[in-house]
Amino acid sequence: MSVYTDLGIPPIINAAATLTKLGGSRMPPEVLDAMVEASRSFVDLYELQRRVGERIALLTGNEAAYVCSGAAAGLTLATAACIVGKDADAITRLPDLTGLKSEVIIHHTHRNGYDHAVRQVGVRIIEIGTKAGTTRQDLEQAITARTAAIVWFQGAMTGGGDLPLEDVITVANEHDIPVLVDAAAQLPPVSNLWRYTEMGATAAIFSGGKDMRGPQSSGLILGSHTFIEACAANGSPNHSIGRPMKVGKEEMVGLLAAVQRYISLDHEGRAGWCEQTVEQWNEALNSLQGVNACRDFPNEAGQPLPRSLVTISEREAGIHRDEVLSQLAKGVPSIIASATGQDSLHLNPMTLEADEVVIVLQRLLEILRLAALSSL
Ligand SMILES: *Cc1c(COP(=O)(O)O)cnc(C)c1O
Repeated sequence: MSVYTDLGIPPIINAAATLTKLGGSRMPPEVLDAMVEASRSFVDLYELQRRVGERIALLTGNEAAYVCSGAAAGLTLATAACIVGKDADAITRLPDLTGLKSEVIIHHTHRNGYDHAVRQVGVRIIEIGTKAGTTRQDLEQAITARTAAIVWFQGAMTGGGDLPLEDVITVANEHDIPVLVDAAAQLPPVSNLWRYTEMGATAAIFSGGKDMRGPQSSGLILGSHTFIEACAANGSPNHSIGRPMKVGKEEMVGLLAAVQRYISLDHEGRAGWCEQTVEQWNEALNSLQGVNACRDFPNEAGQPLPRSLVTISEREAGIHRDEVLSQLAKGVPSIIASATGQDSLHLNPMTLEADEVVIVLQRLLEILRLAALSSL
């Protein structure tokens, strides 16, 4: 790992999740090879973007597709597309919304840091519903002549009291308003790549650099020909709101390779491997005094892969969860796991290689055994 150690930064074993702040994910060889090859030649970027989009659309069962620089960039481009379409003059004026639609409807429960990507187009967010629930009437009353889109965030923030996405789409259709689904981390299952657009969403937006393991600065907008053309018009290399969210030829080709790989991946085998890993971790950890490890499902983004939920009784184990996490992080190699609740942590197999699964367990056992010994 000399590129990182040369910079004095220790590489990390990521047992947390596909977190951007930890580098997101790792690209498999077929993605890297495609990117290296793409880097060797100049190419017509518009033509490449179009061809790559066509291939990805075919692979994912969508009418059209667009490679953007991440799901957050996808939200910005898609919001802009809802407001100005392909109108060259309006594209140049954004985020000045004078005379344009200027409101985006979002469930109160869906508000999160990524809605900044929607707001940067200049729109005002109109919240609907409460923690207690959201009704069809809440949505209908929020719709005005200024409504540009309804944005649906799918993930941990999607709660039980939300107006179901099916109903949101029905109401939106009645008023001819586009529905954008942020499905950034909604993989697996691979079928989500076509599920939301089949349901009638105007666009479904995914991260390329999470479970898909494409380039970190890549994302995917899936939707109709007309809508994707509008996204492209608002994106780089055009002088537009999307120009700072540039996508390189390497990212385009790399994401295509990642989608190809992801579509043909043995997802059942992979899920089975994750189950085995969690079982193996739990069995070993449960042999320790004051430690309880069990399977937790689904994962942090609501996706169907298991994690280990490890609860540490400080009184019995002689160490607090925070100290365990800190020792894991400070060790060599550095290991990052997620804290949850007061005294628990999650171990996530989804971002690990087989050798790292063993390292994570050995380090954790070592820390806990030492703590048990020194508290005797
Ligand atoms: C990760 C994430 C994003 C941002 O994705 P990038 O590809 O990193 O831009 C947006 N929305 C949600 C819900 C996410 O989980």
